[in-house]
Amino acid sequence: MYKYNPLYERYNQLIVNCISLIATNVIISMILCLMQNRYSLRISLRILFSLSKSPYFLSQEQPPLVFLSKGVMAGKLMKCMCMKICCIGEHVTQEMKKDTYEEAIEGLEKLLSEKDELKSIAAAKVRRLTAELAGPAEIGAVESDPVKRIQTGFDHFKKEKYEKQIALYWKLAQGQTPKFLVFACSDSRVCPSHVLNFQPGEAFVVRNVANMVPSFDQNKYSGVGAAIEFALLELKVENILVIGHSCCAGIRNLMSVPDDGATRSDFIEGWVSICKAAKATVQKQSSHLSFDDQCTHLEKEAVNISLANLLSYPFVNEAVVKKKTLLLKGAHYDFVKGSFELWDLNSKTSSFLWK
Ligand SMILES: [Zn+2]
Repeated sequence: MYKYNPLYERYNQLIVNCISLIATNVIISMILCLMQNRYSLRISLRILFSLSKSPYFLSQEQPPLVFLSKGVMAGKLMKCMCMKICCIGEHVTQEMKKDTYEEAIEGLEKLLSEKDELKSIAAAKVRRLTAELAGPAEIGAVESDPVKRIQTGFDHFKKEKYEKQIALYWKLAQGQTPKFLVFACSDSRVCPSHVLNFQPGEAFVVRNVANMVPSFDQNKYSGVGAAIEFALLELKVENILVIGHSCCAGIRNLMSVPDDGATRSDFIEGWVSICKAAKATVQKQSSHLSFDDQCTHLEKEAVNISLANLLSYPFVNEAVVKKKTLLLKGAHYDFVKGSFELWDLNSKTSSFLWK
């Protein structure tokens, strides 16, 4: 006669627990094997993520499975399985990150192999990204030793640009034929060759405080006059571009000059007063705006004064008005927004805006 023995039932339950857990472990191992195959990775990921999102695997909550409901051994095995799932999840996350990075690199390489002209642009963006990832501490470390900074800068230029464009530099030894005369601010953040990717020989550049062009005067500011004369009569440039910029200290200085004309510096206020007519315009039209917004308007309005002043040079006026061999353009570079506005002499407002 069969006699009920509670101990037998407990043994049976334990055996069922063990068999079930071994079977589960085999399934997980198979999934792991699948994950080794790149082509099956995505399928494996979906399965594993759906598993790992289950509250019974990610929390301490007991799963409602009969074979895990009792027994110390089953409890330990469950903990082991949960850890395994978590490890798998972490491994999968790392694999996904790696996969996304590799896909991005593959996409970039494919694009560059199809469009050779993008390589210089891509190189510049990669360098910028590298500098961003390196962080400010890394950049500061480079700048701490001025001699070292100059040496590393020239080494980089020699290796990455000069030696790669040696034919260009040999050609430039025969002479220069730039199409642009550019006026830009001396501000360290707004180098026009950097911002507009001018190559050697493309732009004849004058930089001064607040990128100003004084009107024709042989007794004052003769350095500016000589540069314009040389660019027009010797180099025969076809465009003069005056570029204002955001956060210009020279413009803020002009905006801050007291009405009584009192000065605090030997040169700066006298220089920026070249565009004092622009300040009067902004104060009249934009008095309701904040000081910062008025400065932004003045950065652009001062460019228009410089364009008008350029016409006071006889050789500029003749090339623009009579011969029509020269174009005058104003621009504003905003390095906070990462935008560049461009307009013609006559339009005085943005004809093009690149963001
Ligand atoms: Zn400036």
